[in-house]
Order: sequence, then structure tokens, then C-alpha cells
Amino acid sequence: MHSRRTFLLQLIVSAGAPALLTSRALGENQPLPAQLAETDPVAMALGFKLDTTKVDAQKYPRHAADQQCIGCSLYQGKPAEALGPCLTVGGKLVPCAGWCTVFVKKP
Ligand code: SF4
Repeated sequence: MHSRRTFLLQLIVSAGAPALLTSRALGENQPLPAQLAETDPVAMALGFKLDTTKVDAQKYPRHAADQQCIGCSLYQGKPAEALGPCLTVGGKLVPCAGWCTVFVKKP
């Protein structure tokens, strides 16, 4: 599990993060990214839920109730906002209270 997370993080950093971070740093006026739906194929592959309390505990026994997108290292939103971009899903918007199997607790 840990190696998969490491791989995904390396993939994210090498592929999508620089472009997203560069555009944000430059303050470019770009349209808001789309919100990630649970039915999105990538979301389904990651076990993504809009609400962490709806995660199937039997299917994902490593999930904990306090794991939410807002507490994930890959979440790029601001604390006061309900939605924020996630680097794992190409910058699509995820809710603060969401969750997926890639969750990496903020240090
Ligand atoms: S748990 Fe982390 S990686 Fe998964 S959707 Fe939320 S912010 Fe993205």
C-alpha cells in the first residue's frame, strides 16, 4: 500500500502538479475546474466518496472517520472553502469532507 502511494505521489508531482501550481502562482484567470463525481472512472478506481462518512468500512478497512480531503496533503483548497482542487485527480474539485484511498495525512 505504501509503495502504491509513493508511486502515485511521484506520478502526480511529475505530471500534473507543476502545471497546476504554475498557473496558480501566475494568477492566470482560468475557468474553475470541474467537480469530481463519484461516478468518474478515476474516482471509482480510487474509491472516492464525496462524504467520508459514506465510505464502506468493510471494503476499505484502513479508512478512518477523521480522514477527510481537507486533512490530505494532496488537497489544494483553502480551509474556508467547501471545495478545493486535488492533485490526485488532475486538479478537479473535491469537497473538504471527501475521501479516497490515496489519502495522505498532512504533516
Ligand atoms: S483524500 Fe486526498 S487524494 Fe483523495 S480525493 Fe481527497 S484530497 Fe484527493
